Amino acid sequence: MFDKVLIANRGEIALRVLRACKELGIATVAVHSTADAEAMHVKLADESVCIGPPPARESYLNIPSLLAACEITGADAVHPGYGFLSENARFAEILEEHGIGFIGPKAEHIRLMGDKIEAKRTAKRLGIPVVPGSEGGVTSDEEAMRVGKEIGFPLLVKAAAGGGGRGMKVARDAESLAEALASARSEAKAAFGDDAVYLERYLEKPRHIEIQIFGDGKGNAIHLGERDCSLQRRHQKVFEESPSPALNREMRMQIGEVCAKAMRELNYSGAGTIEFLYENGEFFFIEMNTRIQVEHPVTEMITGVDLVSEQIRIASGASLSLKQEDVQFDGHAIECRVNAEDPLTFAPSPGTIKYYFAPGGLGVRVDSAVYGGYRIPPTYDSLIGKLIVHGKSRNECMMRLRRALDEFVVDGVKTTLPLFRTLVRNADIQNGEYDIHWLERFLADKT
Ligand code: ADP
Repeated sequence: MFDKVLIANRGEIALRVLRACKELGIATVAVHSTADAEAMHVKLADESVCIGPPPARESYLNIPSLLAACEITGADAVHPGYGFLSENARFAEILEEHGIGFIGPKAEHIRLMGDKIEAKRTAKRLGIPVVPGSEGGVTSDEEAMRVGKEIGFPLLVKAAAGGGGRGMKVARDAESLAEALASARSEAKAAFGDDAVYLERYLEKPRHIEIQIFGDGKGNAIHLGERDCSLQRRHQKVFEESPSPALNREMRMQIGEVCAKAMRELNYSGAGTIEFLYENGEFFFIEMNTRIQVEHPVTEMITGVDLVSEQIRIASGASLSLKQEDVQFDGHAIECRVNAEDPLTFAPSPGTIKYYFAPGGLGVRVDSAVYGGYRIPPTYDSLIGKLIVHGKSRNECMMRLRRALDEFVVDGVKTTLPLFRTLVRNADIQNGEYDIHWLERFLADKT
């Protein structure tokens, strides 16, 4: 096991990793930018190192600074959290070259899944069903048009290097294809420095359902069921639940085993999420994330498995702590992402939190790193906390979520809490009848 872990992240996920380390008896090192000197992860860690000025490029993404912090503190492993360097294969390699453990998968698997064209090709080869689309990237308008005719419109142009919903454009018909291609390319170039794009059939009413997997790089891999993340705005998740209201146990175990088998074949190591769109009883792979995800607590609440500590154990060389038959699914869990944003327009609302009260009680979990008097810097994403609620049934979970949302107080900045209070009282949400476009339609009606 590692003796000291450096947490190369901030906010709630830095705290989440810190908690897992403490429970495993591992010493922790926090890193922070000058904007985060007062952050909770810094206060709670055993040691902390300032790694640069506020812009992430000069601090949380600054590999030489992070290496220096490891050296100064003698950390023997790094947990990257999500975002920042978590899916940077080069970072994983550099750490390895310096004899420091990377708490994540092997660099080759990060690289493979980071290129969405390669990822899709690999998924197909491993027997995972994929969205119909171009075989690889499309380089010319003519080629795109040919593929368009073959798979039919509407089509989605997607960036090979994509992430966070960027570099994605819908072409409703042949006439709008050239424009969609050009705009996806320029957005991808600006965001990722890579303008490679590919085409996919645009699914009109799918749900986003993803499978949590774990491998140990010793030929073992399991799945921990699904999360339904269909409630999205601009392709960004805002509310996640497990189990999905659209699946039964048989469907879950079937798609889960397809994923676990594929991971055994890859000899994948660590946590991963295989993302699908689900429509009319069919699953279509869209991408794989080779890291812990924001919404992982939903799975923890229904399985009782600590995903972060499992990541740490596996990265230190241990085998999976459980077999597929040991994974039990109990009850229902829902997560709401509480952002410091306007609840309707989602415009960021940084500032000082004047008063903070988090809900509690049976089945209620809040993963957050903020406190009363904390100033939210404008530099980073606006997630200030996640409210995760567990109940024996979906109905109990909904009722508990309702009362927990009513207890939650964050004064001084705008938050998305009022939106969730409305959502839990909505009949479609209560009935679990929603797809990936539901929230945008709902918001369009309100504004
Ligand atoms: P990113 O890496 O940018 O998050 P994903 O490929 O994971 O991109 O897709 C993000 C979201 O975009 C999905 O959850 C879904 O809402 C939408 N999306 C992606 N592919 C399609 C598709 N083929 N048809 C319809 N919607 C899609």
